[in-house]
Amino acid sequence: MSDCIFCKIIKGEIPCDKVYEDDKMIAIKDVAPVAPVHVLLIPKKHVPNILATEADLRLHLSSKMKELVKKLGVEEKGFRLVINTGVDGGQTVEHLHIHLIGGKILGWPPC
Ligand code: 5GP
Ligand code: ZN
Repeated sequence: MSDCIFCKIIKGEIPCDKVYEDDKMIAIKDVAPVAPVHVLLIPKKHVPNILATEADLRLHLSSKMKELVKKLGVEEKGFRLVINTGVDGGQTVEHLHIHLIGGKILGWPPC
């Protein structure tokens, strides 16, 4: 989508700090990190949210998530995955992304 910020990042029109890329997805550092590790896993295909995905994309994202957890060094101490969805979920960018957050003890509940 032409007005989508993550589509622009994927096309290289907006710079990013990329930690992983393949034919289906990228993983980039969040521009406003909430923890020492804050990476966004983003499918290259513009899908608005997790409900709009096919099973093979969900499988790909989750298997690469496991690799990234190790690469980012949060496997042992723990981390959090977040998929904000819709208005109540606090989604601000309507292109599916999974937050991978860690590197400190995270609070709960989130609000
Ligand atoms: P949401 O609120 O939709 O779950 O998360 C959107 C995330 O995208 C936010 O954490 C925000 O900081 C991040 N973000 C927004 N614009 C950009 C950008 O241009 N570059 C990067 N790397 N992250 C962005
Ligand atoms: Zn998009």
